[in-house]
Amino acid sequence: MIKKDVIIIGAGASGMMCAVESGKRGHSVLILDHAEKTGKKIRISGGGSCNFTNINISHTNFISNNPHFCKSALSRFTPDDFISLLEKHGVKYEEREEGQLFCAKSSEEIIRMLENESNDVGVNIILNCQVLDVKKEDSFIVSTDNGIFSSESLVIATGGLSYPQVGASGIGYNIAKQFGLKVTEIKPALVPFIFSQKDLKIFGDLSGISIDAAIKCNKMEFRGSILFTHRGLSGPTILQVSSYWKEGDTIVIDLLPEIDIYGIFIEKQQSKSKIDMHNLLSQYMPSRLAKIWCDSNIQSKPVNQYNEKELRKIAHMVHNWEIKPGSTEDFKTAEVTLGGIDTNELSSKTMESRKIKGLYFTGEVIDVTGQLGGYNLHWAWASGFVAGQYA
Ligand SMILES: Cc1cc2nc3c(=O)[nH]c(=O)nc-3n(C[C@H](O)[C@H](O)[C@H](O)COP(=O)(O)OP(=O)(O)OC[C@H]3O[C@@H](n4cnc5c(N)ncnc54)[C@H](O)[C@@H]3O)c2cc1C
Repeated sequence: MIKKDVIIIGAGASGMMCAVESGKRGHSVLILDHAEKTGKKIRISGGGSCNFTNINISHTNFISNNPHFCKSALSRFTPDDFISLLEKHGVKYEEREEGQLFCAKSSEEIIRMLENESNDVGVNIILNCQVLDVKKEDSFIVSTDNGIFSSESLVIATGGLSYPQVGASGIGYNIAKQFGLKVTEIKPALVPFIFSQKDLKIFGDLSGISIDAAIKCNKMEFRGSILFTHRGLSGPTILQVSSYWKEGDTIVIDLLPEIDIYGIFIEKQQSKSKIDMHNLLSQYMPSRLAKIWCDSNIQSKPVNQYNEKELRKIAHMVHNWEIKPGSTEDFKTAEVTLGGIDTNELSSKTMESRKIKGLYFTGEVIDVTGQLGGYNLHWAWASGFVAGQYA
């Protein structure tokens, strides 16, 4: 049996960060991962250029049963801290919209940076390693198809269930349950919606159309592009909303957020315009959308044939189009997993289990889920960083 101070299961964002920090404190650290490469999710993040943090980060960008849990880690490892690390390694980055920072070249550079940092402090990494059993006697004992290892601290950095095609598995939740820790309900988040059967028949033909819209769901509102797909709705704004959506909820879409469409209707009516409603709307949104939306929501006719009350109602509907999605897509297309290890089970300062001394959890496996925009990776860095100060 090989003895280490710290074993980390998961060579992803939070596991690597934790390994570096623990290694800096002189600990012998071993990372085990069943994948053939480190950081596979970092590699595909942000379309390959990795939206690694957001300069406007706060606890309000996260969903958790305890919205305060992430505060301590976020205050101790900030976007500036990660930027300093990038600058030390000469990794170039750029700011895109809304404070989102991306690699200027490729997310590979971040993986290389973490591997170099790990090497510098003597971290061992075993890849292609299947974890068969985890138990605690005096210390933790991890049995694998590469041998048996023991350690004083065990860090579970195995991520969520999203994107099983790059190595996600439910092992983190299983280990938590095995040690008697509660796991909250988990479900796909940052994920496209699937239309109900009825809506798919009506709106399926809009596949490929993208518009700028504002979407409301459960008191949250997001603004940006939405994309009609052959199954439902996608695009960054839809992904944001999906994390707040529960089965049976209606989402409300403002199809023309910048435009006073009622004012335009009245102007046209007063000038006795005979333009058909769907043709008028086509001047402000894709004509296919205007036609199908009118067909399914109103009776399109020349604008001068509506009375003021009807125009007010149509304008309201354009700004408040209600859609009840049938479901979301599954974990195969979800960027993250909502829910996870119950935060009541962990110290927000150390990420250590309150019940099991020496057992830590980091990153997405915890019930802390970021919005789209670099928040999930930042949570991985920050939670890995703080765990690495204690594990
Ligand atoms: C397509 C996509 C794009 C994304 N883009 C962004 C983005 O731009 N910005 C952002 O902030 N977030 C993004 N995310 C989310 C972000 O990548 C994750 O939240 C983050 O990587 C989680 O870090 P982690 O350390 O918790 O887990 P991960 O980075 O997922 O690491 C978990 C590790 O555990 C290993 N593992 C799992 N099961 C086992 C097992 N049974 N045995 C051994 N090892 C195991 C995995 O192989 C993996 O290496 C994206 C996610 C996806 C899927």
